[in-house]
Amino acid sequence: MNYDCNKLAELLFPNVTETIEDLEKRYPERDLKEGARVTRFAPSPTGYLHIGGLFGALVDVLTAKATGGVAFLRVEDTDKKREIDDGVSAIINGFASFGIDFDEGVTGFNTEKGAYGPYTQSQRAEIYHIVAKELVQKGLAYPCFCTADELSEIRQEQEKGDALIRGYFGKWAKCRDLSFEEIEENINNGKPYVLRFCSDGQEDKRIFFDDIIRGKIEMPENIIDEVLLKSDGIPTYHFAHACDDHFMRTTHVIRGEEWISSVPKHIALFKACGFKVPKYAHTPQVMKIDEEDGTKRKLSKRKDPEAAVSYFVEEGFPKESLIEYLLTLLNSNFEDWRRANPTADAFSFPFNLKKMSPSGCLFDLVKLNDVSKNVISVMNAQTVYDYISAWAEKFDEDFYKVFTANPEKSKAMVNIDRESNKPRKDIAKWSEVKEYFSYMFDEYYEASFDLPENIAKEDAKAILENYLKVYNVEDDKEVWFSKIKDLCEPLGFTPNVKEYKKNPELFKGHVGDVSTVIRLAVTSRKNTPDLCSIMSLLGQDKVNERINKVIESL
Ligand code: GLU
Repeated sequence: MNYDCNKLAELLFPNVTETIEDLEKRYPERDLKEGARVTRFAPSPTGYLHIGGLFGALVDVLTAKATGGVAFLRVEDTDKKREIDDGVSAIINGFASFGIDFDEGVTGFNTEKGAYGPYTQSQRAEIYHIVAKELVQKGLAYPCFCTADELSEIRQEQEKGDALIRGYFGKWAKCRDLSFEEIEENINNGKPYVLRFCSDGQEDKRIFFDDIIRGKIEMPENIIDEVLLKSDGIPTYHFAHACDDHFMRTTHVIRGEEWISSVPKHIALFKACGFKVPKYAHTPQVMKIDEEDGTKRKLSKRKDPEAAVSYFVEEGFPKESLIEYLLTLLNSNFEDWRRANPTADAFSFPFNLKKMSPSGCLFDLVKLNDVSKNVISVMNAQTVYDYISAWAEKFDEDFYKVFTANPEKSKAMVNIDRESNKPRKDIAKWSEVKEYFSYMFDEYYEASFDLPENIAKEDAKAILENYLKVYNVEDDKEVWFSKIKDLCEPLGFTPNVKEYKKNPELFKGHVGDVSTVIRLAVTSRKNTPDLCSIMSLLGQDKVNERINKVIESL
């Protein structure tokens, strides 16, 4: 540059009086213990939280937690095209639903906490301009007045040739050579301009960096004069990343792998600004197996409902289940840790970035369902009751009324075969509960008596008639079962399953068949949790009524 850069800096930023040094004082190094990591999650406010976002945020929070550090949430709203009104709340609510708790940063629409803010990029113009002014002073940035047409001409020229590198650099970067007078004239004429980085990178040079997840990476050095500030003074992602992660004192930039190719640019920017380059960790993408062609592909917002975190809220997966499942994807040693610490809070898992696999991880709904069944099976009845009512209140008003009409009964219902050494593992999500327990509520019960082939109608009728004579809702489990056993022999069944297996030809069936008939008559299901408890909750009258109806129909 053949002019006084200080003069240009004053021309471009006449109102900026502070310096990078002032910012260093305003945002001092964090007072954290050795090894503590400062991480951030930095979504754009699109109003949509992708499961990959939850996955990434979990990595940030766990990394900070495991090292006694800080995880914060920064809103990156510099791309006005992608933004929607209050696109932040959906993201924050998504995190809150799954217990992702940031130590600092944006906490809601226009609210935040922490001493390193503002945490919304659109409120940080002053900071970017201070840094930008200093880059101009040092001859490391310059205004570029090229119009969209001129830039597209450059692109076309480059496409005609066989240049490997395309963009604004070297001989293409004609605004680099403007004189001060030309710049001044353009500015006085109100010509719009962007501020560009003045790269000193060389085409044949390479840079190396250590990615914590991927190891050593080698790439060509950046040579592009990247845009730092757009014509409205708003920074590009690249410039904002350098300023924000420096002054928010991020130690570990953990972000999606789509950003790997930008690292040379970022390292160049950090260095030009005089900032220490942070450590990088690029996380793999969340993938799935396509149902149609069996290939592994990225979870898509358009095709896969489960790409949206809101899907899991609506379906009623408890937060513990989704987090537990994501942890199995994050670190292969999680399952061992879980076996050794069966009741520990998942967030206390000593997560290690280095143990993350760099290849895309497969999100499998079937596995999530299995994990969730396990997680729900060890919850106590009160927790399950609270979860179901909270879910239903939001997503199934009718069921909410029915389920909460008699809380003690509903609690006892969800407690059947729970709080024991061998709890049932039937329920994966709260939206299944209404159907699962439909026989408990007249509102949802649809009687259907579909006998298995091995039991004759007359026998079923006889079983039910005899059973009605002896059933007493007051009976405890033992008496309840002995009464069913006692029904067997007079009707040609055996109470002894082993005996039946030895000589099936001697009997019409065994005690299991007899109880199946009763179960079917009372619940219309072949399989339920403990029938004795179900019947006692339904009450003598309802049990009699249902059995009588079936007898009539036979
Ligand atoms: N705002 C960027 C995005 O939404 C975040 C990238 C980063 O974490 O640095 O993709």
